Amino acid sequence: MVADVFGVDAARAGSLLTVDLDAVRSNWRLLRDTGAGAACAAVMKADAYGLGMSVVAPALASEGCRVFFTAHLDEGMRLRPMLPEDAAIYVLHGPPPGGAADFVEHGLLPVLNDPSQIAEWRALCRKLQRRLPAALQFDTGMSRMGLAPADAERLLADPAWKDELQPVLVMSHLACADEPAHAMNQVQRERFAALRARLAGIPGSLANSSAVFLGPGFHHDLLRPGAALYGINPQPGSPNPLRQAVGLRARIVQSRQVATGDIVGYGAHFVADGPRRIATIGIGYADGWLRSLSGRGHAFIDGQRVPFAGNVSMDSITLDVTGIPETRVQPGCEVELLGAHQTVDDVAREAGTIGYEVLTRLGSRFHREYR
Ligand SMILES: *Cc1c(COP(=O)(O)O)cnc(C)c1O
Repeated sequence: MVADVFGVDAARAGSLLTVDLDAVRSNWRLLRDTGAGAACAAVMKADAYGLGMSVVAPALASEGCRVFFTAHLDEGMRLRPMLPEDAAIYVLHGPPPGGAADFVEHGLLPVLNDPSQIAEWRALCRKLQRRLPAALQFDTGMSRMGLAPADAERLLADPAWKDELQPVLVMSHLACADEPAHAMNQVQRERFAALRARLAGIPGSLANSSAVFLGPGFHHDLLRPGAALYGINPQPGSPNPLRQAVGLRARIVQSRQVATGDIVGYGAHFVADGPRRIATIGIGYADGWLRSLSGRGHAFIDGQRVPFAGNVSMDSITLDVTGIPETRVQPGCEVELLGAHQTVDDVAREAGTIGYEVLTRLGSRFHREYR
């Protein structure tokens, strides 16, 4: 029995996921070097975009990464013991109501996004009589997170707050960084510059993965890439400068011959237009292989493209393997879903979504190998 770090046995699992930690590390170095003078953080939210934070975070820490981001407090608390003490962990959603003290107890830094979070943090500072460090996020145009312009004005007009808390990072987030020509990029960059001019001396951070490739004007002091670390193309339409980090192989459970007119799968959406060979693999939408790939997705057998036949089921997918040698479609044979012939972005395109969603949906039933 070959169990992975999560206890899933290789021989008994329906599919095998490989995470190439060398690729993740090399992607981090490429982002860091592209950012020249800026420090490079790593975004770990959603279990490192599905790759497994407990393995990815220490690998990047050993590469020299010293700043990490999670979305939720609870994710930050789980990440803390996986990292060296000198690594900073920012929690993007900030303290949930009543949750400020947890940050101090667990050595986490909040990103303060609205007046109520700032008020909670200030109250804790007063109570502990310490200027506790925190990041401040400003909304420069996405209307999702961060202080709205009116709230920002009120804060900046109040001279007392900087005596209570210690602002260690000023940040904002771009809405359209994956479209380099989009006018919002310059609009948000200018709004961010105007805010930073009024918060002199505090390091700034604006760039997600895509913005790292928008040029030095977007780098500031700290880059915050997530997707690009994991191989997603940060600038769709341009060649991907990053290495693929995830491979996925599923095993054939059963193969059969079908005759003209036979139907395949739920809803009878595939009707054989001639004699066909159908192979069923042990992966489905419960493993994150999206149901929207029904009749549209592909797998690869020895580099040959085989189409999905009919609907994706919860635990299985039927492939049209007509013409593939019999010896390669036997129970136990492996087919490639992610690898040399198909990237995360390719699958996302066929599924009508983005690579982020494909990665973060990856299921928990795979046997995982970290290389
Ligand atoms: C998710 C997130 C990032 C990382 O974005 P990528 O596009 O995955 O690089 C950076 N900053 C914030 C605020 C985020 O929410």
